[in-house]
Amino acid sequence: MAATRVIAFFLEEFRRRLTAEPLPAIAYRPRPYRNAAVRFRTCPVEDYAGRLELVQQTGLNVFAFPADKLPGCDLLSDSGTSTMTMEQWSQLLLGDEAYGSNEGYFELQERFAEIFGPEWRQPQESVHNHFFLFHQGRAAEYALASTIRTGLPGPGPEKDFPDSELGARLRHRLEHLRRRLGAETSLIIPSNSHFDTTEANFAHFRIAPLNLPCPEHEAGRTDFPFRGNIDLDALEAVLAAKGASVPLVYLTVTNNTGGGQPVSLKNILAAADICHRYGKPLFLDACRFAENAWFVKRHETGCARLEIPEIVHRMFAPVDGFHISLKKDGLANIGGALFVRPGGLFARLDNGRLLDRLTSHQILVEGHPTYGGLAGRDLKAIAEGLRTIVREDYLHHRIEQVRRFGLRLLECGIPVMQPFGGHAVYIDVDRFFAGTGAPDEEFRGISLTALMLVAGHRLCELGVYAFGSSRNGVEQPPDPRVNNVRAAVPRLAYEDQDLSACAEALRILHDNRDRIPAVKVDYGRDLSLRHFKSRFSFAAE
Ligand SMILES: *Cc1c(COP(=O)(O)O)cnc(C)c1O
Repeated sequence: MAATRVIAFFLEEFRRRLTAEPLPAIAYRPRPYRNAAVRFRTCPVEDYAGRLELVQQTGLNVFAFPADKLPGCDLLSDSGTSTMTMEQWSQLLLGDEAYGSNEGYFELQERFAEIFGPEWRQPQESVHNHFFLFHQGRAAEYALASTIRTGLPGPGPEKDFPDSELGARLRHRLEHLRRRLGAETSLIIPSNSHFDTTEANFAHFRIAPLNLPCPEHEAGRTDFPFRGNIDLDALEAVLAAKGASVPLVYLTVTNNTGGGQPVSLKNILAAADICHRYGKPLFLDACRFAENAWFVKRHETGCARLEIPEIVHRMFAPVDGFHISLKKDGLANIGGALFVRPGGLFARLDNGRLLDRLTSHQILVEGHPTYGGLAGRDLKAIAEGLRTIVREDYLHHRIEQVRRFGLRLLECGIPVMQPFGGHAVYIDVDRFFAGTGAPDEEFRGISLTALMLVAGHRLCELGVYAFGSSRNGVEQPPDPRVNNVRAAVPRLAYEDQDLSACAEALRILHDNRDRIPAVKVDYGRDLSLRHFKSRFSFAAE
């Protein structure tokens, strides 16, 4: 018996010290997977001079830098960069490449119904498609935006905002936005924060993408776990005054632009309530639905005991539609989808003619709704990826890894947005360069990403360059202001050691931040989506 007691002691010690929560900054809990295939690096870490040359050749544009010349972490995006599981690779071999209604399509429908709830299944009795596949998320955004613009009436009679602090703020924000669009009146789609492609797609169709992040986010509250929430008072005020011009409302989960921050279940339910009181459909931009569900489980009162799939069902239960990039929480390298709730508010708009328009659009652009620009094998890989993405051990590891990377950056003295988001760490460029007196027009965020490429790692500026604009040489910073450099962590691709190497390079730059040169824009400053297209050079001393 004594032996058993001794062993029981160790069992308890293992439990207490090896699986403690929250996990310490150094991981000693094993990953919930192991490597099954690896890709060896083809370029030497030490070739800093060679990379400097390439950085200059490619105009300091991170998108133009050749990926195979990066020895370190490629944190440009977590989109389509996931390492697939062996199960997904095996499914690729089983792809059914039939032109219409291939096997993967039905499998995917079943998986979506399992994950998002049975009510999202394509209704057998309806002649209209309610579920549309696309080759990626933005193709779904384009389809939706063009359908809204051409299929629904334009802006209706609006009232002025009330004479309050909130009213004044909203009036200013909307006027600024409409002026930027060159449309005094336009439809409006409010959101907690639109992602850059969502924003660009709506703006392209002269629909004002109005961001209403919650006050806790605007105040920079580091202790508030749901900084992705929408400002409910602002939403209500917009619908009360401008409802006639609002075709629908969006919530981005997690809120990528706002720092990968989650939205609480309570906020989704309350937003749906407000929308429905005004007869407006609520849509989710659901790219990181599973990561959002994990945060709900971790931080939301009353949700700790719920399983991830149950939380996902609850997130989708009150909404009228959603779109998703399956390159994120689809664990796939390509894919997107748009869902309209059968019998929901959006489906009923215009007697189903919007659904017909969506189908026509899809046939013109993506092929047939049952494959949406994807190969049959991709559908199989997505269907399999969705199984893994809602596993709690996977999500726990994924989000904890991002958090440990964030803690590491803090240790290196780098100002980062807190709490940490689910897929990325956001470096606060304003605080990074605080006290150096660098004006916005010198775009130090761009300098930072260029020097990080030289160090061997790739990050992305999502700040005054990406979200700002310039007209006649005058810079318009984004409103509300965002000025970050994002380090997005691909799923199942890197280990902590890689991320530590990236943090260490950032430490060198931060320690010497007053020496980081300005950049000048050699091409593209006035263009739309300018961060994808521009060319820069380091400004002369
Ligand atoms: C990536 C992303 C999109 C667009 O999806 P793509 O597949 O890249 O076209 C839309 N919204 C959010 C929040 C995203 O992160």
